[in-house]
Amino acid sequence: MLNKNKTILIFLGPPGSGKGTQAEMVSKRTKLPAISTGKLLRQEVKGKTKIGKEVEKIVSRGDLVSNSIIEKLLFKRISKRDASGGFILDGYPRKKSQQDNLMKKLKNIIKEEDKIFAILVDVGDREVKSRLGGRRMCACGATYHLKFSPPKKKGVCDLCGSKLRVRADDKPSVIADRLKIYHKEIAPILDYWERSGRLIRVDGERSIKKVNRDIVKSLKY
Ligand code: AMP
Repeated sequence: MLNKNKTILIFLGPPGSGKGTQAEMVSKRTKLPAISTGKLLRQEVKGKTKIGKEVEKIVSRGDLVSNSIIEKLLFKRISKRDASGGFILDGYPRKKSQQDNLMKKLKNIIKEEDKIFAILVDVGDREVKSRLGGRRMCACGATYHLKFSPPKKKGVCDLCGSKLRVRADDKPSVIADRLKIYHKEIAPILDYWERSGRLIRVDGERSIKKVNRDIVKSLKY
């Protein structure tokens, strides 16, 4: 399935658009690692590392963590061996300066024939608010949704049996702030990918399967 050129896929979309789920599905299909900056940060918080302690409050408020911290974690991750054929990004870039830093970084590691696309999983604010209210997570990293992907047993993780909880940044007041930040910051990023002819837009307000079918078709995998 994977050719010898690099493939880099950048998933864009509001919180709750399902871009993380889609990134994971495309990862399984292509064998490219899906890298979520939110997950990298939550791992740091969970591990009570120096970075984790520094970002804990910022992440729980839904504010953006500094580029230097995000890029330290992310660029280290993409330099690992499993990402040598390419990778899938979820949650980065989130603002113009990150977009610029990413392009600077990619310049050093990509060739003209490599396959690079941004995929916008488009979902309106109303739908985002209703979806995020139902999201549940486990400390082991597994994620669920009360309506779309419920655990087998109510409130309990299928994988490890722990009690599920609401992510601190999925509380209603925090969701509204996260959406405000998203709209302000995403516009120039979309503009960049649109102009370069590398933006794939999919209607994210449909079933996970249908959204995935569209993405796979567009990518010709
Ligand atoms: P996510 O899992 O992508 O929704 O990210 C969870 C939280 O991690 C966000 O609300 C931010 O606080 C932080 N975060 C994740 N990615 C980034 C990023 N690219 N830049 C800044 N902060 C980020």
